[in-house]
Amino acid sequence: MNTNNNESFRDHIGTINEEGLRNWIHPKKPKGKHYTYRTLLSIVLLTAFIIGPFIKVGGEQFMLFNILERKFHIFGKPFFPQDFYLLALAVVISAVFLVLFTVVYGRIFCGWLCPQTIFMEMLFRKIEYFFEGDRPKQIKLDRMPWNAEKIRKRGLKWVVFYLVSLVITSVMLAYVAGSDYVINFWKHPFADVKAWLIYLAFTTVFYFVFAWFREQVCIIACPYGRLQGVLTDENTIMVAYDYKRGEKRGPMRKGQDREAEGLGDCIDCKQCVLVCPTGIDIRNGTQLECINCTACIDACDATMDAIGKPRGLIRYASKVSIEEGHSKLFTTRVKFYTVVLTALLGIFVYLFAHRPSVQLKVLRTRGQVFTELPSGDIQNMYQATIINKSSHPYKNLQIKLIDPKDGKLTVSGAENNLDLKKEEIKQVIIFIDLPKNKFHGKHTIKLGVYDKDKMLDSYKTVFIAPVAR
Ligand code: SF4
Ligand code: SF4
Repeated sequence: MNTNNNESFRDHIGTINEEGLRNWIHPKKPKGKHYTYRTLLSIVLLTAFIIGPFIKVGGEQFMLFNILERKFHIFGKPFFPQDFYLLALAVVISAVFLVLFTVVYGRIFCGWLCPQTIFMEMLFRKIEYFFEGDRPKQIKLDRMPWNAEKIRKRGLKWVVFYLVSLVITSVMLAYVAGSDYVINFWKHPFADVKAWLIYLAFTTVFYFVFAWFREQVCIIACPYGRLQGVLTDENTIMVAYDYKRGEKRGPMRKGQDREAEGLGDCIDCKQCVLVCPTGIDIRNGTQLECINCTACIDACDATMDAIGKPRGLIRYASKVSIEEGHSKLFTTRVKFYTVVLTALLGIFVYLFAHRPSVQLKVLRTRGQVFTELPSGDIQNMYQATIINKSSHPYKNLQIKLIDPKDGKLTVSGAENNLDLKKEEIKQVIIFIDLPKNKFHGKHTIKLGVYDKDKMLDSYKTVFIAPVAR
């Protein structure tokens, strides 16, 4: 969509200069409707991120992903390795979701929801503006020799960056090691020197990413960013410059008749370039560096307001909608994909919500086929695993044979009254006896685990009897 005939932007990226050195980007502080919405959303997301592992529901951490101890809590519900079918499903749905979502909405995730963008643009960048001021002051400070002012401003900024990185590390560790571990660490900060090594290692990585590596995560390192070229097409909705309306660009002069001069609405004020955190000019068309942060939309809307032209010279639009001159975003394709995406999410939420609080699994004991009892019944032996996936204990649970009805079930060495503490996994040996004259060969049987008369979960397994002669 570049109509400027200057293709030089294709030869370099905004973060590297002609000598191959780092080109520090000092984006102008964004201001406008989209930035306000993004700020509000980031406050909600950052708050959820910070308090997530510190909230407890029924004594259990609201969110916990303790890989080492294999303890997982999602929305306060304990999850077990046995639930990993849900994780596998979530991965598949996420992959489909990501592809469909990107095909329709482009990199909207990057601009509004990606943790890297939220931390960088809504936290660390704001701290930078606080200590160093807006773009012109930052550039001036950059060019300054290392005098007292520069040491004070940069030094304070770096100290605050490091402290914020330490907070992020603490929250991350609360997710993976448990909030009790983190709270205990900060209550007795000098009790565990090894823990400090972990803290400092992670804090330094976060500090490096947000103080130095910055936008290069999106431009160079992020695999999702690299996939944009194959995931988007001319119907994808992205932050785009309406070149039909904007070109031919040219500065505005007093008393000028732009139409008569063949000029478009772009007055070449470059505000959209100055606010861009990845250092690109959106007027060159869609570029991989664009994280769809919408800062250029706000900047251009302010310019349009100032010159009395309608907003939206830069806006969410597809290439086709700009070429055909309409601003319709919700095309049939977008509606169809949105329905598919919603259905996928619905399936996952349904499975997640209907996960049984107690899970039963019954497997035939290895090396055992069947036993012929003196009574004339055939007996099979099984190992039953009962998992209490809830955060409360159960008393007097019973395993019952549901199908066939004329069999007998006995729990080895115990009454068929099982007590399970919260999150406990119990294994018991059970015997099932079926009449020999009715059952021959292989049969599918069904068992259930009951809390009084309420069935909590059921399981189908195989019963083997002698083949009929
Ligand atoms: S081009 Fe616009 S939307 Fe894209 S990264 Fe730059 S400012 Fe953000
Ligand atoms: S902000 Fe708008 S008017 Fe100014 S250069 Fe960018 S596109 Fe043109």
